Amino acid sequence: KVTVRHLAKSFGDNVVLEDIDMTVLEGTVTAMIGPSGAGKSTVLRCLNLLERPDSGTIDISGHRIDAESRFTNRQLYALRREAGMVFQHFNLFPHMSVMRNVTLPQQRILGRSKAEAEQKSHELLTRMGLGDKGSQYPNRCSGGQQQRIAIARALALEPTVMLFDEPTSSLDPEVGVEVLEVMHELANEGMTMIVVTHEMGFARTVSDDLVVMADGRIIEQGEPKRIMEDPSHPRTQDFLRAVL
Ligand code: ATP
Ligand code: MG
Repeated sequence: KVTVRHLAKSFGDNVVLEDIDMTVLEGTVTAMIGPSGAGKSTVLRCLNLLERPDSGTIDISGHRIDAESRFTNRQLYALRREAGMVFQHFNLFPHMSVMRNVTLPQQRILGRSKAEAEQKSHELLTRMGLGDKGSQYPNRCSGGQQQRIAIARALALEPTVMLFDEPTSSLDPEVGVEVLEVMHELANEGMTMIVVTHEMGFARTVSDDLVVMADGRIIEQGEPKRIMEDPSHPRTQDFLRAVL
């Protein structure tokens, strides 16, 4: 479970997040939408401490983050492994094989042996339809394959929640579909997920909750179908008109 209360964040005098409240129950999928600059990525980045909140609290699977928290590296690792992150541009290690990309974090963060990490990686890559790609380098893989490698890498740490930041935005639609299918499966298996996306089909059919952000605030939040059919905030209406 993830609980965010009164989360605020500024960069200099640019107020990027203000009074963000959200609750993501275990086994549910929350989709997050809103115009560019709304603060969606910053929310995700706060959730695994890529950014530090200025105020408010985040509870993530029993770990508490607030502005005063001082973490040792070990605690930071413990927290980061609760929340697996998948980025728009994959962020794979280009100079490492696909297998090494997936094994390295397991060895570094979980202390798994090379053999254990390789077994786990093979299992996950196979599940992603990439069982034969282990010895390739990422740049020899298609965008959709790279994103599924990134998902395997995150899943290998056995996170309790997965954070996706526009995972299909840099992919051609037909390739994006493969990634969305993998995410749909994960959701069906009960993975807790927060997904920033402009894929309204995914938001409608897969997500349990929809969060709409604009100007650093949550302007609307609730049942996806209800919000898409009958948005109550004018900015939600504008946004939906632009993406649908
Ligand atoms: P997009 O849809 O374009 O990805 P977003 O909703 O994810 O937008 P954020 O990336 O969270 O928006 O950015 C929100 C605001 O915070 C923007 O005004 C951005 O310029 C600013 N911002 C984000 N990260 C930083 C940073 N590291 N330093 C300074 N400003 C930042
Ligand atoms: Mg973003």
